[in-house]
Amino acid sequence: MKRIGIYYHPSFSRKSYMTIGNRLRDFPEALAPLLARPNVRLIESPPVSEELVLKVHAPEMLTQVAHDGFCSTAYESVGGVVAGMVDLATGEIDRAFCFIGAGGHHAGYRQFWGACCFNDVVIALTHTREISPWRRFAIVDTDAHHGDGTRQLVRDDPEVFHLCFCGLNFTSDDRTKVDVNAYRMNPHADPDAQYVDLVRQNLTLIPAFKPDLLIWYYGFDTHRDDYGSIGLTEPAYFAICDLMLAAAAGMGVPLMVVLAGGSMSHLATATIPEIIRRLAET
Ligand SMILES: [Zn+2]
Ligand SMILES: [Zn+2]
Repeated sequence: MKRIGIYYHPSFSRKSYMTIGNRLRDFPEALAPLLARPNVRLIESPPVSEELVLKVHAPEMLTQVAHDGFCSTAYESVGGVVAGMVDLATGEIDRAFCFIGAGGHHAGYRQFWGACCFNDVVIALTHTREISPWRRFAIVDTDAHHGDGTRQLVRDDPEVFHLCFCGLNFTSDDRTKVDVNAYRMNPHADPDAQYVDLVRQNLTLIPAFKPDLLIWYYGFDTHRDDYGSIGLTEPAYFAICDLMLAAAAGMGVPLMVVLAGGSMSHLATATIPEIIRRLAET
């Protein structure tokens, strides 16, 4: 039975950056049935240290984030992702689900936008390299938007595979940075089936890279009711989750899920516990 760590902080439900509708308002209560399982643990996200943030970001980012009301949960958001990756790298757990209050993939070296503050995933992998033998990380971004901050930070890092489903179409010379255009789907065919097929096809690029960890950056802003809609519905996220689980299992590496964009609380409640259930049962 796989050991699952859920990283969460109460401030994410009170001061989430998605202030309209407060998307995590049903949490942590919605996790209660999962937490009754012997293999699922809830861990309170600790704040990340400034020292660690400064290994990835310019010093002026600390001041900018301190003055941005949307970033009130920035330190705990990153801290949970760091803690989750450390627990995976040290073998404490097999799979992680990290909640966040402030996002990460639009945070670059000295700038951030789009409800992001510090780059959670890049800070976490920077630290994980310091404390473990892990070097190679595969990030699969299924948020609706291009992960520009992440791309800027890992552009020259050949040991990070960054696969991003967005509006771009790009493959780097070394083939470790890939953007797949998910905006231009056939309007006459089912969006869920087309998107899931795109993910399935492109996940086949990863095994040759031989990552130590697979990271799924999960946004539900792609949902047909949400602000980055490309017409998806809930079953698409579960199908993607199963593809990620199969990919990680096929490579023999752990799976880490990091929450990304999406504003609707009913979608958070309808998808996150089910995704964690699949992590715990598969
Ligand atoms: Zn987004
Ligand atoms: Zn992209």
